Amino acid sequence: MSATDARYVISPPPQPALAIAGSSELFPVRRIWCVGRNYLEHIREMGNDEREPPFFFAKFADSIVPDGGQVPFPPVTKDLHFEVELVVALKSGGRNIPTSKALDCVWGYGVGIDLTRRDLQIASRNIKRPWEVGKSFDAAAPMGALRPVSEVGHPAKGRIYLKQNGVVKQDGDLEQMIWNVPETINQLTQQVALEAGDVIMTGTPAGVGQIAVGDKLECVVEGVGTLTVTMAPMEKEYVQG
Ligand code: MN
Repeated sequence: MSATDARYVISPPPQPALAIAGSSELFPVRRIWCVGRNYLEHIREMGNDEREPPFFFAKFADSIVPDGGQVPFPPVTKDLHFEVELVVALKSGGRNIPTSKALDCVWGYGVGIDLTRRDLQIASRNIKRPWEVGKSFDAAAPMGALRPVSEVGHPAKGRIYLKQNGVVKQDGDLEQMIWNVPETINQLTQQVALEAGDVIMTGTPAGVGQIAVGDKLECVVEGVGTLTVTMAPMEKEYVQG
């Protein structure tokens, strides 16, 4: 069924996509997967078990905000947090992909922010409810332009940092990841089939913190990319159509 198929009873939603650095081409996004707790210092700052295997959660593909974009402050939180992360974009997928083949699936890399309603995430965890309310909401996934493997290779080390209003708040290195990109793809494909168009946010280094309306968030993964977004006021009323 094509996107213009006359059988659709409403207009099909637009295809989410990421920009490609230095190009007018686009990377179409299927799913956004996220790794929980992948940098030791962040696990310690959150008071969690350092020995646990990786776990995964998802964000909606239509929650992407591009570089230079404005993020409307989300509702029902008093503790919105930034988490700068390396983004991995897949050109192919499968199930049970061995680590030795995992990098063959990667189209390119970028930088993103795993925006988190921390108060709701923690409250959900404490009453054994899912994390969605804390992690998956409108505009929860700012992501900068991708760069292809042909330009950046497969970065296994390099500084990853976030500045809030010009002040460095998160500052780590990709080599501090507990589960590297091939291991992450291997682990995730034991749970689900990955496909072309899937992107993976690979976890955040230490220094996460609270965001306010008006904040400017500047993210860099050296050798990979940049992302800058600003926090706009909450959109209180919205009626589509
Ligand atoms: Mn995260």
